[in-house]
Amino acid sequence: MSEPEVHKKKYFDQIEVFGSMEKRSWIHGPKSAKRFSINEPNCPVRNPFDNIEGVMREEGIKLFDNLLWHSWHEDGNIPEAVKKWVDLRVIEFKAGKNIDLVCNCRRFRGQDDDVGILAKYPRDCHGYSLKKYIEFLASQSKINN
Ligand SMILES: [Zn+2]
Repeated sequence: MSEPEVHKKKYFDQIEVFGSMEKRSWIHGPKSAKRFSINEPNCPVRNPFDNIEGVMREEGIKLFDNLLWHSWHEDGNIPEAVKKWVDLRVIEFKAGKNIDLVCNCRRFRGQDDDVGILAKYPRDCHGYSLKKYIEFLASQSKINN
């Protein structure tokens, strides 16, 4: 058994999904991250199911996840602008760059204030689907190269 965590830890992945007011902490060094707004009206990877009347936010995120994995990925119905956006992020990810996906669905990640197990599991945002997808494609292309 490991010791229980008593101190809140800030943990950053290479790709992070942030609320509009968040930034990485300075303790992670001078290597600054590229920041991308992922829910602006002109952003190719915004969630089109966000803010639709009668659709709960959680539901809209599931719909986006479904669109991404089934329509875009499996069926290959990925819009050109989305593919371009995703390809660029994969290249940056593989080059070791930190990537911040900034979503205006919230100002801060919901559970940054939680201590312990919950802190590692942020509340949902369509950014997590994008993060997973970029990581997935990067791992795939490693295998193919
Ligand atoms: Zn979001």
